Amino acid sequence: MFCQVIIDIVHENVASPFTYRIPDGMHLEPGQRVAVPFGRREKEGIVLDLSDSCDIEESRIRDVLKPLEEYPAVPPELMDLARQMAEDVHCPLAETLRLMLPAQMRGGRVRVKTERTAKLAVSPEEAFASADREKRSRKRADLLRILSDGEVHTVKELAEQVRDPNEALKKLSGDGLVILSDEETLRTPGTNFAQPSDPGFTLTPGQEEALEEILPCLRGKGGRFLLHGVTGSGKTEVFMAAVRNVLTLGKSAIILVPEIALTPQMVAWFRGRFGPVAAVIHSRLSPGERFDEWRRIRRGDARVVIGARSAVFSPARNLGLIVVDEEHEGTYLSDHHPRYDAREIANSRCERENATLILASATPSVLSFARARRGDYMLLEMPRRVQDRPLPEVEIVDMREELENGNRTVLSMALRKALKETAAQGGQAMLLMNRRGYNSFVSCRSCGYVVKCPNCDISMTYHMASEDGLLRCHYCGHAMKPPAACPECGGKYIRYFGAGTQKVEEEVAKLLPGVPAIRMDYDTTSGKDGHGKILEEFRSGRARILIGTQMIAKGLDFPRVTLVGVVAADMTLNLPDYRSRERTFQLLTQVAGRAGRGEQPGKVIIQTYKPEDPVIGFAAAQDYRSFFEDEFTRRRRGLYPPFTLLARFLTESVSEEAAAAAADRLEQETRRLVDSHPAWGRKLLLISNDTPGVKVLRGKNRRHVLMKMLVGREADEMIAAMTELARGEFENTEVWFEVNPTTMM
Ligand code: ADP
Ligand code: ZN
Repeated sequence: MFCQVIIDIVHENVASPFTYRIPDGMHLEPGQRVAVPFGRREKEGIVLDLSDSCDIEESRIRDVLKPLEEYPAVPPELMDLARQMAEDVHCPLAETLRLMLPAQMRGGRVRVKTERTAKLAVSPEEAFASADREKRSRKRADLLRILSDGEVHTVKELAEQVRDPNEALKKLSGDGLVILSDEETLRTPGTNFAQPSDPGFTLTPGQEEALEEILPCLRGKGGRFLLHGVTGSGKTEVFMAAVRNVLTLGKSAIILVPEIALTPQMVAWFRGRFGPVAAVIHSRLSPGERFDEWRRIRRGDARVVIGARSAVFSPARNLGLIVVDEEHEGTYLSDHHPRYDAREIANSRCERENATLILASATPSVLSFARARRGDYMLLEMPRRVQDRPLPEVEIVDMREELENGNRTVLSMALRKALKETAAQGGQAMLLMNRRGYNSFVSCRSCGYVVKCPNCDISMTYHMASEDGLLRCHYCGHAMKPPAACPECGGKYIRYFGAGTQKVEEEVAKLLPGVPAIRMDYDTTSGKDGHGKILEEFRSGRARILIGTQMIAKGLDFPRVTLVGVVAADMTLNLPDYRSRERTFQLLTQVAGRAGRGEQPGKVIIQTYKPEDPVIGFAAAQDYRSFFEDEFTRRRRGLYPPFTLLARFLTESVSEEAAAAAADRLEQETRRLVDSHPAWGRKLLLISNDTPGVKVLRGKNRRHVLMKMLVGREADEMIAAMTELARGEFENTEVWFEVNPTTMM
């Protein structure tokens, strides 16, 4: 027997499979990991196909050394998916196969953890008899009596009752009275959240209707849904009911959440409801925990997988359902190579495995909603909150007026008053500030000079929490002292400008002394369970005010929050990106939706310098439809996605000339290609060769060639051709090709 093996090396020259002989007595299956000789070394690889003949001269074929596990680490469905992805994004199969396995598994960096156990080899009666005869050793007699309950005991546990039991156990095992063995144990990550039990809700009519559409698909060959439910409409309960059905059918489910901040809450809910059948996968688990959760899933012991985007590749057995919660979030697009969109992968997995897909959001992405309108997804709407709780009352505050009235602080008079009232009534409040750090950047009040990172062309950030008083770059970590005078004009009024979460925290402490507040942003959530701890602090009521960045706006359910304040709504509105309106709408709607989720009605205050912008109004009214129509029209007029595709080549090099030369060459080659395909030329609307918003990043000079094309077959062909172009050799330069990239900067 022979097998084709993909070697775990990402390089053009080893992209195709190599043939090996399977020695007699060894059994292999496709998807199994193997050790093989490769050149003069031993390498890991994955078996692709088996065959009983081969067209290479037999004497040149070498033997597989050994299987690395007894089971195929990559099940057949995921083998197919990896093949498809490699074809779609034009990258080596070894690269997409890596997505299907926990990284720690490669190179044998994690091992199965075992624990020594003991149990009786004889009947309890015999054990008792032996114990009574055992005159020489008290220890051995005691051990026999403990073990006579017939259970398997770990040696660790026995050691708590009998000091140093090892020698005695060995003797007992030698006498044939006890069996010692090493049993696998699993490192199962815990959760800081209390695990609520099933509240036994009666479903709302909206939830019932949604389920009625979903259930037949779960039993049958699957379906695609976009669940659009306003904040607080009870979407999670719909997932839970669907998952319960999936489990009854003997299938499994994957629940994707946009980021790890949301996993503890979700995991607690699912564990509370379904017990250990729920597994969790995310990047902050220890390597051992990650590997063990993966194995529980692979073996079918865990049938509900909860995790961030990479969990879409979990080896769930007999997949019945994938839920993508908060589907509008940008975090579903990966930013590493090979780049993928977890929503698209979920879609193709469901199609392949006859499973059901549910994309859910209170603010669906324009692309997904447009697809639902076209009939690609079935649209399920839940326009009302559970128990007909009212949507929060939203007040828009014009910050220009505040300034005119002499209020120079970051909190408007209205927000101050509301905070005081909330505190007096014992309620909880959330304040959103979509920027991190204290007094974000340093600028000169006389000439406007802004201190930027010399490596990255991005403003440096001043952190009050760091005691060194240095400015830092969030991209490359470069640190420097703030200048005493402006390097441009020599002016002395070079100051920290703008406000961040720390500034808000300080203002709140001044306004409400003694009221416990907690801050959640990138700086306070590092560490293994930073998110979970902060959120639990707030959930328990120990903290009364939660101040944070975007992180706090999403999905979290805190019933006691009655006030939400948005400190500066326009921060995201003016970014140079066609999606900034969509992002602002989503952010405002989501954060407003955090208020009034419990018995008490909620109030929201949005502070802005641009109250007349329709996006602010749509968000205040939680009016998704009007926002969508407005945005869809804008996109059609401006020829933006979904009417077009945006693509770009991005070149990065330490040498400015090299980056520019690569961009120029890519532009010319693209133009030549398009000239030779007249049909393409009609669909390519724009090609521009330019410096992106961020000119220098991590010490590399950047250029990009931006292209806009009408969607359709020609665009797909062009993208395939451009992907090839980007794979060429470029002197001293890295080249990326991106389609609808998350950022144009
Ligand atoms: P969404 O994700 O749609 O914003 P959630 O799923 O977080 O909303 O639900 C909002 C709140 O309503 C939660 O506290 C949840 O426990 C509660 N809830 C959900 N369904 C019901 C129901 N049928 N009856 C009563 N309360 C419900
Ligand atoms: Zn930098």
